[in-house]
Amino acid sequence: MAGLSLKNVIKRYGDVEVIHGVDLDIADRDFCVFVGPSGCGKSTLLRMIAGLEETTGGTISIGGEDVTNADPAERGVAMVFQSYALYPHMTVAENMGFGLKMTGHPKAEIDKKVGEAAEILKLDQLLKRRPKELSGGQRQRVAIGRAIVRDPKVFLFDEPLSNLDAELRVEMRVEIARLHRELNATMIYVTHDQVEAMTLADSIVVLNGGVIEQVGAPLDLYDDPDNAFVSGFIGSPRINMLNAEKSNGHLVLSDVGAGTLDVTLLGELPNRAVIGIRPEHFAETGSGGVPMDVQVTVVEHLGDVSFVYGQTKSGTNVVIERRGHRGTRAGETITAEFNPSKTLVFDADSGLRVR
Ligand code: ADP
Ligand code: MG
Repeated sequence: MAGLSLKNVIKRYGDVEVIHGVDLDIADRDFCVFVGPSGCGKSTLLRMIAGLEETTGGTISIGGEDVTNADPAERGVAMVFQSYALYPHMTVAENMGFGLKMTGHPKAEIDKKVGEAAEILKLDQLLKRRPKELSGGQRQRVAIGRAIVRDPKVFLFDEPLSNLDAELRVEMRVEIARLHRELNATMIYVTHDQVEAMTLADSIVVLNGGVIEQVGAPLDLYDDPDNAFVSGFIGSPRINMLNAEKSNGHLVLSDVGAGTLDVTLLGELPNRAVIGIRPEHFAETGSGGVPMDVQVTVVEHLGDVSFVYGQTKSGTNVVIERRGHRGTRAGETITAEFNPSKTLVFDADSGLRVR
């Protein structure tokens, strides 16, 4: 197995630069997730690691070896795509063993490896079927099996669950986490879905417009984001953002009437700030937090929890999580209080966190 190291990696298509000098270290056996909005460069970066895209600048090392210009086959990586890319006329076993057959491995060895992979993936009963006789989840398992038999140092996944329905996606997510434990391999997994990133990753790389915004463990990114982008991308429903201005050494919340926010920061208060408040950091009236009137527009009752969507006095959209409180209705005005010590303060101009 192997770790990876990317140094000042750049990708240009003609005159257009889409990856702007990425530096990244991924530890051996890490489950690393690249997450970010569509078009931010996740697939491009993964395909450069795989050797399917040429690297315009910088270096990529796998297991300490510079593979920047190596052939895909020489990198010890195996990739699993969103489109399963199975051969329709071949059986499950033939699909899984095809790569090994092409590189001249003896039949007995191929059968053994396919058998082992099929057992790990619970495909042993389906080896004689063809892809059209399989469900979407089973097809994706075959595609993963095809990667496993090659015994790669690094597994690369590009949105492997995007074609599956919601229920199957959750099931396969758990399977992939189990696979990572059992295979004990380095995995790099691309997704635009922050829930997949949060649940699967040892480390998350948040990409935005071809640059890394932050790298960290899932809960560290959630609790302690470096900037407004990361705080907005990680967490569902999205973190609330309220405007504030500095006045007499305090932050005054223009979105919340005359609300004043007293927070202790190491850094200097910005003149214009954005205050991030997670939906779960609101409490009932009387908790001693900062009060905020919210005109309720929509309430989602999910059973254990309700999400209340509405607007502040100044018209800023907010969402509040309420537990054990099913009575809230659209049209009413509620007073929610938020805990000032849980807020995140960002400089409104740079988007950077002030800690
Ligand atoms: P993601 O996987 O995060 O959705 P991509 O890595 O596919 O994003 O794309 C990143 C950027 O590179 C996008 O702006 C996309 O339009 C551009 N891009 C991707 N492939 C090509 C290509 N073959 N030629 C030109 N531009 C490309
Ligand atoms: Mg992509």
